[in-house]
Amino acid sequence: MSKKDTNSYCSFCGRGEKDVNMLISGMSADICDSCAEQAYQIVKDSVEAKKTALGIDKDQLPDPRTIKEYLDGYIIGQDSAKRYLSVAVYNHYKRLLQGKDDDIEIEKSNIILVGPTGTGKTLLARTIAKLLHVPFAIVDATVLTEAGYVGEDIESILTRLLQASDYDVAAAERGIVFIDEIDKIARKSDNPSITRDVSGEGVQQGLLKLLEGSVVNVPPQGGRKHPDQKMIAVDTKNILFVCGGAFDGIERKIAQRLNTMVVGYASSKNNAQVDRENLLQYVAPQDLKSFGLIPEIIGRLPILTYLDALDRSALRRILTEPKNSIIKQYVKLFKMDDVTLTFAEDVYEYIVDKAVEYKLGARGLRSIVETIMMDAMFNIPSTKETELHVTKEYAVEQLENSQIIKLRNSQ
Ligand code: ADP
Repeated sequence: MSKKDTNSYCSFCGRGEKDVNMLISGMSADICDSCAEQAYQIVKDSVEAKKTALGIDKDQLPDPRTIKEYLDGYIIGQDSAKRYLSVAVYNHYKRLLQGKDDDIEIEKSNIILVGPTGTGKTLLARTIAKLLHVPFAIVDATVLTEAGYVGEDIESILTRLLQASDYDVAAAERGIVFIDEIDKIARKSDNPSITRDVSGEGVQQGLLKLLEGSVVNVPPQGGRKHPDQKMIAVDTKNILFVCGGAFDGIERKIAQRLNTMVVGYASSKNNAQVDRENLLQYVAPQDLKSFGLIPEIIGRLPILTYLDALDRSALRRILTEPKNSIIKQYVKLFKMDDVTLTFAEDVYEYIVDKAVEYKLGARGLRSIVETIMMDAMFNIPSTKETELHVTKEYAVEQLENSQIIKLRNSQ
């Protein structure tokens, strides 16, 4: 194909070469730029139309095992949460594919993840969204307040999703929303009438509407609604909500429940099987209720699962094993400057020791590695070095000279 320079015309619209921006010649026909563009759109639309109305191809929908394997590539441990999430997501998208003429309607299964902070709740939700190529938004429940009070309206959750989908409403309507710190909107007291609970129960009531599935008018730029703002209508029926929270102290509620259960019904044999060190694995909807979530919200989050606290060995694995592990990211950064970066094995142990010592969890691993690598990242690009091997001595020296340590020691 070439741009013709004789007096040709487009075989589709008939316009002459001088009337168009570009004329592309084929074997026995020519096409102008605007017809080519239109043809592309027609092909694209017809391919889209072959997919379901929701833009998901049944054949492309990964099964739960495949979803779990994908998650394994990025998230260390958390087997229970991964399995629950894989099944829930698979069912959710099967539900979207179901025929409308069917009497048996599959209900939506929003998810709630209970686990200490920094154990991978957000990472799980984000990774699922990446796998499914759907818009993903993270919102913090603590900034939400009942309409009319200082804070953000509940609808702003959907504004984030619209932003994540570049205001493609259809795409947003099949996206995933991660609501973090859902435990922070628990009812503050058992008697809600004492003071108005604008950031607790009021928000839970507001959230219900979204979780249930309804058409919500969303302010495109978020913030507070005002009367003459143009709203975008978003149907939340097919949006998957994943909620996460640390639920600090919920173990006590679980223990209380297990104790009463043991006294009430179970034999001493059952009692012995309870793993008192890791009570979160027994978390049940009634514990969320004792914690202060209203029953209607709990009912709308039928998939309940937990995440384990990260121990030393998990932290060690997080450092190097995930597909985009922190260490792999640094190796790549240096590679871009043609520098081969390697670490002595005991450096990893040292980094984990420090993360545990500072009680920083997985989030701390990155800042520790960043501190160790700071000098090298500053200096190496302007030298001719092609290799950098980080030994434990070097790591200790870098970290001990750093601001973090100075700050900590001065406390
Ligand atoms: P949460 O939402 O539970 O508070 P995040 O998912 O935001 O925690 O985790 C914070 C960071 O810690 C992540 O970006 C990731 O780098 C790391 N991380 C936490 N848990 C894991 C895990 N199980 N596997 C791999 N990385 C993890």
